[in-house]
Amino acid sequence: MAESPKKKCPICGKPMVEEFKPFCSRRCADIDLNRWLTGNYVIPARDDEPLPDADGEDENF
Ligand SMILES: [Zn+2]
Repeated sequence: MAESPKKKCPICGKPMVEEFKPFCSRRCADIDLNRWLTGNYVIPARDDEPLPDADGEDENF
């Protein structure tokens, strides 16, 4: 079991796709954008996941 833990799409929970990261598809990216625009986006307080601040940087061990 040497599977590297991939990030999941914050919208639907599917594995992230590089092309649309951090989402799994453009659709989910669109949904996320829409949430921001409509002000419905709720940032989870103190999640254990650090924000992706670098491109392509693997923050896992
Ligand atoms: Zn998704």
